[in-house]
Amino acid sequence: STFTKTFDTPTFKGTIAVPLGLYINGEFVVPVEGGTLDVVNPATGKVVTSIAAGTKADIDIAAKAAKKAYKTSWGLKVPGAERGKLMMKLAGLMEQHIAEFAALDALANGKAYNTAYSRDNKGAIAVMQYYAGWADKINGKTIETNENKLAYTRHEPIGVVGQIIPWNVPMFSLSLKIAPALATGNTIVLKPSEITPLSALLFCTLIKEAGFPPGVINIVNGYGATAGQAISEHPLIEKVAFTGSTLTGRKIMEAAAKSNLKPVTLELGGKSPNVIFDDADLEQAVKWAIHGIYFNHGQNCSAGSRIFIQEGIYDKFLEQFTEQAREIKVGDPFSPDTYQGPQVSKTQFERIMGYIDSGKNDGATVHLGGNQIGQEGYFIQPTIFTDCQPNMKIVREEIFGPVACVMKFKTEDEVVEQANDTSYGLAASVFTKDIDRAIRVAHALEAGTAWINCANQTEISMPFGGFKQSGIGRELSEYALENYTNVKAVHVNI
Ligand code: NAD
Repeated sequence: STFTKTFDTPTFKGTIAVPLGLYINGEFVVPVEGGTLDVVNPATGKVVTSIAAGTKADIDIAAKAAKKAYKTSWGLKVPGAERGKLMMKLAGLMEQHIAEFAALDALANGKAYNTAYSRDNKGAIAVMQYYAGWADKINGKTIETNENKLAYTRHEPIGVVGQIIPWNVPMFSLSLKIAPALATGNTIVLKPSEITPLSALLFCTLIKEAGFPPGVINIVNGYGATAGQAISEHPLIEKVAFTGSTLTGRKIMEAAAKSNLKPVTLELGGKSPNVIFDDADLEQAVKWAIHGIYFNHGQNCSAGSRIFIQEGIYDKFLEQFTEQAREIKVGDPFSPDTYQGPQVSKTQFERIMGYIDSGKNDGATVHLGGNQIGQEGYFIQPTIFTDCQPNMKIVREEIFGPVACVMKFKTEDEVVEQANDTSYGLAASVFTKDIDRAIRVAHALEAGTAWINCANQTEISMPFGGFKQSGIGRELSEYALENYTNVKAVHVNI
């Protein structure tokens, strides 16, 4: 069956049709157990469509198809340049359909269409192109050994890799996973988030059109506890790469360890500090702090959710930050000036509102917002908490919503200690005009990414990933290729 929807919105007009099956071995198929899942529009709370949902039996079929494709029509059978060409073709098709991808993500995720278009999907295409360029540059080294020997390394594909992604940047996450795995010669079984499966289905139609051999990329929609768990456990799947919550990451690592000891790459949650010193450029610091926490409705793993402000600039910063947070345009994802749409789901909405209640109960002050907007859908006001203490739940746990916790500090030593007082370590920002302090603090913060005088930035050519419980391994850049290759050492006796 097919999902067809006609959009007549200020940002996107047109009809989109996507098949609703599981994409296995180059075909759309019906799930073995006939399962379905509902896709909900978070702007209205209403079901948009019901799609096919796979379970363990479907993952098994997909893994076998991927294994066969790896042995016969991908992996070491296909030169890197050929793989790169197909990937470039796929990127070109993604470009042709970018407006449709953005519309499907705005519909199921609730993010602004313009953001989905210009950030998520342009980013997804650029990632595909970047790794297409790497496909014929997966080189080993020759190594000196002081013996009569030729010694060299080869970076071989792992085989079948499993990939599990979340809902916050659906197409960007998908490309971030698929592109380096393809470039290095692996075949794939990927499960999108059950909350945002539609754009992945459109992507499946392009895999076919680009001409990938059947079984190279298999995309199986379904729930985490069934299809996701089956990917982590499957004996033919030799690696699992996951982006999502730390809780789920732990389950995946356990399942991977108990099955075939498959290696894991985990991109998990965060509670990133944003440290603003008295000598910062106030206007810039406010601008970036707004982007840091409120971009994508606060649904960013690297959101600057703990804002530490030095006492001399505190009042001025808070005034301007509050002013700008109040002006954020919250509304219909398809309206051209919307910055913030609804939160992604009822569950997330209730979770965030629960955190807001806990902040109030723990004695923090709601300085701005704190309430639902309207009666329909899952809209929440941009919210600022002041009077936050280090032991409060709102300061310690990832909220994944438009909620900033603001705290005052006196000295550099004190703020570095507070900023690092978290189990997470994904990203951190520091604002100051003092170059020595900027670098000293950036190095002292325990995070995989440190931003100086900016926030929430990624570059395709820069690695991204977590310290501590924010993850294992790096995505983006050349570093991501390591996630998908096995290094073989070859000793040749001369
Ligand atoms: P989630 O962990 O609930 O789900 C993520 C994915 O895992 C989904 O596809 C889900 O179906 C699947 N899943 C759930 N249970 C599973 C299980 N037992 N076994 C296998 N798969 C399972 O996370 P979410 O709510 O979709 O996403 C939000 C979280 O993702 C946040 O914590 C956020 O910080 C994190 N995130 C991290 C990054 C990063 O790069 N570090 C990027 C985006 C999101």
